[in-house]
Amino acid sequence: MEKVYGYVRVSTQKQGDGVSLIEQKSAIEDFAKKNNLTIIHWFEEKVTAAKEGRPAFNEMMALLTREKAEGACFHKIDRSSRNYGDWNRINILADAGINFYSVSDGINLSDESSRLPADILAAMSTHYIRNLRKEVLKGFYGRLKQGFYPLPAPIGYKDMGGGKTKEIDLVYGPLVRKTFELYCTGKYGIISLTEEMNKRGLRGRKGGKVTKTGIANILRNPFYIGMMKIKRTDEVFAGSHKPIVSKVLFNKTQQILDGRTHKRVIKHDFHFKRMLKCAHCKYSIIGERQKGHIYYRCHTKGCPTKTIRQEIIENVLRQFSADIALTGSQLDEIREIAQKSLEKGNDFRNKTITELKFKKTVLDDKLDKLTDAVIDGLIDRDIYLRKKEKIIFEQVELQSKIEQLNEKQEVEDHHVDKFLELLKTACIKENQLELADLSHMVNFATSNLFLNGKYIEIKTYSPFTEVLRNKKSTYCPPCRDRPRTAVANDTEDGTWVRYRIDIKKQKTPKGTIDLEEIAKSLIRSMATL
Ligand SMILES: [Zn+2]
Repeated sequence: MEKVYGYVRVSTQKQGDGVSLIEQKSAIEDFAKKNNLTIIHWFEEKVTAAKEGRPAFNEMMALLTREKAEGACFHKIDRSSRNYGDWNRINILADAGINFYSVSDGINLSDESSRLPADILAAMSTHYIRNLRKEVLKGFYGRLKQGFYPLPAPIGYKDMGGGKTKEIDLVYGPLVRKTFELYCTGKYGIISLTEEMNKRGLRGRKGGKVTKTGIANILRNPFYIGMMKIKRTDEVFAGSHKPIVSKVLFNKTQQILDGRTHKRVIKHDFHFKRMLKCAHCKYSIIGERQKGHIYYRCHTKGCPTKTIRQEIIENVLRQFSADIALTGSQLDEIREIAQKSLEKGNDFRNKTITELKFKKTVLDDKLDKLTDAVIDGLIDRDIYLRKKEKIIFEQVELQSKIEQLNEKQEVEDHHVDKFLELLKTACIKENQLELADLSHMVNFATSNLFLNGKYIEIKTYSPFTEVLRNKKSTYCPPCRDRPRTAVANDTEDGTWVRYRIDIKKQKTPKGTIDLEEIAKSLIRSMATL
């Protein structure tokens, strides 16, 4: 009796060709009986044969190489190998005298006349799987998988023909970005934004005016950040096209669309609209025009907070502006300190980017394996789709982290510039500062302004807080020779500066200022960008 191994393989338990593990085994056993063979050990495999490196197959081949058995039985050639590497190994052993039987093909490799038909069968099976993969990749989902969008380009992109990446339209692409930007200013609703974008020349896919729905669709479409979402299935793919808007801008847009962020509508007459709140009832103080003057008042019935004229608020904010002003050389020094510390951060950032890129390639491999698995029927389509979406999502996350890190440098430089520029504005212009610039600066520097009886209370952001803390005008203990313009209080809720509303313009006294502290707080404040 010839001692042989039995080798069985299925891709899944409920595989399409209906030949389960048990059926394969019994076919092999029948064959063994008839041909006087003894199966001394079974090797079972439940993975695809498309790629080399099946554990059970390898183990069996190693044992055969050492002549631990005289041969091996397969159910069918395509069970033994679907790649030329494995087939080659089988043939080498066959030449060395090991017997290979393919039960249902009726092939015995030690029989010379069987070698050619066996080669043909093996070639067919390799060809079959190669083709199947090609077919899968050629289809709708295959193109999506490769990053191509098999549907007409969304507004802002151009179709470049089948199987090619959509390119950004030089005219409409920037207009689409503008659509997002304008929407995020909070000055537009969908209707006014549609009007504005039509005025600016944005057109729909067929060349007509862009509609409200069109604008709403643009604002919701993740294609503009490099992803492709198929509406019907809600499936998400990573696109090969260039994004038009940043993920930050897109997310902000989604938040506003979802109503999670308060829209700020700015009317230019009322410069301090929505800036001041009533300390009593915490509602915004509303501006109104009376006899050519602008007044702000709390609209809560019976609230003791008195109406205040815009000029009075302006006066206080100008003083605040003078209080956070620094000289040109002080600003230069802060910039220098900040930049040195930012450079250190860059080294660390580059290391992180390399790590993230590596993680992305690992996910690429995972996706490949997953595709193989579905091609071989190892997993069913539902699981495949779910797993794939998860991987794609992770990849897009990684990519956006990489982009964010890349962007961060720019954002940080911009932040430093903006901070210094605002302080410069405060310093140089002082009295000629335009109201719009003044309110812009106050918005940037403060998180809260309260009207509280005779006082306006201002809560500042870092590093403006540190600037104020360093200015003797607000922080020195009361002393007779030097009047204070404001009083600062540290509370659990941050630092508040309190100005009397009938404040007389004061020159801020000069003292030593800890520029290092200001620069450090500037760096720290970037963590929240
Ligand atoms: Zn009130």
